[in-house]
Amino acid sequence: MSPAPAHLTEPGRQTPVFGEFDVVVLGGGPAGMAAAVSAARAGRTVLLLERYGFLGGMGTAAGVTNFCGLHANVYGEIRQVVHGVADDLLDRIDRLGGLNAPHALFGKTVAQAYDTAAYKIAADELMESAGVQVLFHALAVGTVMASPRRVQALLVETKSGRYAIVGRCFIDASGDGDLAAWAGVPYDKGDGEGNMLYPSTMFRLAGIDAARAGRAWEVIPQLMAQAQADGRYTFPRKTPIVRPQKNSGEWRVNLTQLANAQGMAMDGTDALELSDAEVQGRRQIASVTGFLREVPGFEAAYIVDIAPQVGIRETRRVRGLVQLTEADVLGCASFDDTVGVNGWPLELHLKGDVEFRWPDIPGSRGYNHLPYRMTVPVGMDNLWVAGRCASMSHEAQSAARVTGACFVMGQAAGTAAVLALDTGCTAADVNMDSLQAALESAGAWLGTEPQKESP
Ligand SMILES: Cc1cc2nc3c(=O)[nH]c(=O)nc-3n(C[C@H](O)[C@H](O)[C@H](O)COP(=O)(O)OP(=O)(O)OC[C@H]3O[C@@H](n4cnc5c(N)ncnc54)[C@H](O)[C@@H]3O)c2cc1C
Repeated sequence: MSPAPAHLTEPGRQTPVFGEFDVVVLGGGPAGMAAAVSAARAGRTVLLLERYGFLGGMGTAAGVTNFCGLHANVYGEIRQVVHGVADDLLDRIDRLGGLNAPHALFGKTVAQAYDTAAYKIAADELMESAGVQVLFHALAVGTVMASPRRVQALLVETKSGRYAIVGRCFIDASGDGDLAAWAGVPYDKGDGEGNMLYPSTMFRLAGIDAARAGRAWEVIPQLMAQAQADGRYTFPRKTPIVRPQKNSGEWRVNLTQLANAQGMAMDGTDALELSDAEVQGRRQIASVTGFLREVPGFEAAYIVDIAPQVGIRETRRVRGLVQLTEADVLGCASFDDTVGVNGWPLELHLKGDVEFRWPDIPGSRGYNHLPYRMTVPVGMDNLWVAGRCASMSHEAQSAARVTGACFVMGQAAGTAAVLALDTGCTAADVNMDSLQAALESAGAWLGTEPQKESP
């Protein structure tokens, strides 16, 4: 048999148009949800596309189960600094009984755990309440361009076949910058030497005796070090995150680390590496669970859930009109075109460990502004990029990739798309006074005093 050719030519095809929408949003993570809700609430027709059968992005599909970046340490006082669409979603999760009270971290800030099942239901309700049309099980695979600067349609594969989704504005909230990359926008990956943040497969243990486990997260690092020194376990990374969920008998475990054959972070845009990482993650989980059952209170623990997919922290970072930098995060930078804030520190998932870098706490206001221009890709008129693939340096992305900042960017992009449609302008020319006024009237907080009271 002769070897298979490197390429095959597919026959030309006529692609049916699924529909035409004012705003097409790719990706149902925090950024995509906030974008879709904001545009729909302003009266625009919105289609939200998601490859899975539920919303939440990494927050559900990768089992994150914890909100970071909703709060900041403002001169020693912990405050909720992300509002707007995020408040609506949190209220809905809470009403379903799926939201924990915020828990302290590192003596510097707080995070807030949630149940994925409640998150999925709350997200459905939120989309319905805003009039967002959601198309689940739709994998976007390419674009049709009206011109080099304008996207005309997004191509998706579904169980009913391939469709073109025609739109007037597009928001790439895919996390991986898929749409922007297909549209030809330049992007970066990693730290300049190919090092991206390492991914992890998240899992949750149930059957934990919460009273006996107590504050187990404080002793687990020493127990790990001892088990490794004894030669009984080798851990994929240090700095474990093992914390209780709303039901105190259930704990999330963030401790795996997934590398490719060269030992570098596996690439979430590489099909083979993604596939290998799924197996690698589950193998690590089996080993880590064996160790955790030695921890007092964890003797009867069992794996109640392994996330549906490997958790990807960083892939493409699309180049925008402004790139958020490490100095911006550590220096609590201000921008005239602020659309909200990031209060999370740098959280770099490096080989074998996690490194946090903080702004001066409690000596600073503890958050940086997120500039509108980081959501506007270079060279495009009707495209926005929101969430972990927005315009940030590798280091800044390790901070503003967390959920709080993704809500902020999404709400800004969805609101800006509506203003661009209303006034017939391009993404770059959206009027900042109008955008900031629209965001504030929708409950967002832009990081300018006076600070809204925390709930
Ligand atoms: C292991 C891990 C632990 C984390 N821990 C925390 C934490 O404790 N707290 C916190 O706040 N954040 C945490 N994060 C970060 C945070 O969850 C993500 O960075 C955040 O969810 C990014 O939001 P997003 O909307 O930009 O993208 P995503 O959440 O990645 O959502 C993108 C969505 O787009 C969909 N999509 C992508 N491509 C396509 C396509 N071609 N067609 C159709 N659909 C597509 C995906 O299915 C997904 O639903 C963690 C991340 C990981 C990986």
